[in-house]
Formats: sequence, C-alpha cells, structure tokens
Amino acid sequence: MDLKGKIRVIEDFPQKGISFKDITTLIKDGEAFKFVIKSLADLVKDKNADIVVGPEARGFIIGAPLAYELGAGFVPTRKNGKLPAKTLNAEYKLEYGTDIIQMHEDAIKPGQRVIVADDLLATGGTALSNIDLVERVGGKVVAVAVVIELTELGGRNVLQNYDVFSLVKYL
Ligand code: 5GP
Repeated sequence: MDLKGKIRVIEDFPQKGISFKDITTLIKDGEAFKFVIKSLADLVKDKNADIVVGPEARGFIIGAPLAYELGAGFVPTRKNGKLPAKTLNAEYKLEYGTDIIQMHEDAIKPGQRVIVADDLLATGGTALSNIDLVERVGGKVVAVAVVIELTELGGRNVLQNYDVFSLVKYL
C-alpha cells in the first residue's frame, strides 16, 4: 500500500522550518489504518512482547491497537500531571521543545518484554525517554516500532542498542 500517499505533509508546522507529517489523513482511512497496525505487528510479533508502551498523544493511536493485535497489554506514558497514581518522570525532548513524560511506577513488572510504539521517530528523544522509564522499573525493551521515520534526524543512531522498526521513511 502507498502509505506516503495517505500521509499529509504540512510545511512550517508547528513552526517555521518543520515539515510536519500528519497521520490523521492515514488513520481516517480504515483500510490504511488496519494495514499499518498489521504491518507493524508482523515486524515485531517474534519479539513476544508482554507490553506496548505508547507516549501521549499519537503513541496512543498506534500503540493501543498494536498491543491489541499482538495480544499484549498497553501502557500509556503521559505529559506531566495527567496520570492519577504514583509516577516516574523522564525528560521528554522533541524536535521542537522539551517536556516531562510520566509513567505509573507499577505499570511494568521487572523482566516484562516491552515494545515502545509511536507514530513517528525523529531525533529519538521521545523513544529514549520512554525506554528510560521502562528500564528504570526493570522492563526489557525488545523493539521500538513507529509508522514514520525521519532518517536525517538520526533517531536510529541514538537507539543503536535497540531494534528499530519503521514502515515509511522520509529524509
Ligand atoms: P523525536 O522525539 O524522535 O525527536 O520526535 C518524535 C515525537 O515527536 C513523536 O512523539 C511524534 O509524535 C512527534 N513528532 C515530531 N515530528 C512530527 C511530525 O512531523 N509528525 C508527527 N505526526 N509527529 C511528530
């Protein structure tokens, strides 16, 4: 399937110089959405994951159905102050700014096999902060799975100790 044809590219959003990859045009297409989730699941199914972790907000859109498809559990990581129980914090660095990301401290048991899933990999900062949260509670990150990879931003290098899977690449 031509996934690039389904992704809308918006120049200078959310700020000048950023070429934003908009997945809303992809996920509103039922066939394309299903294809994306099934394709990611095929790439990681031999990892025998117990848990898929997805960062707010677009990581929920990809991570939750991926977990469902794999028969794994889903753990959200969220922006500061959104989770109700006791949390761990990590610095969350974006292509355009920084924030704090949090995970419930009892979300993952030591030794559980975890996939970090998101819509897009750019610098790798978001994935790395999620990996940090998972590893601090003793989880084992077995894969990072994203729909889109911006190859020139070097996320794959930052994540060189992990198996990274993506479906669509842009420079
Ligand atoms: P990174 O932390 O790898 O630099 O950036 C990836 C994170 O920023 C992801 O959580 C992703 O949702 C968001 N992001 C950055 N650029 C884009 C973009 O062009 N399109 C979309 N959909 N998300 C982006």
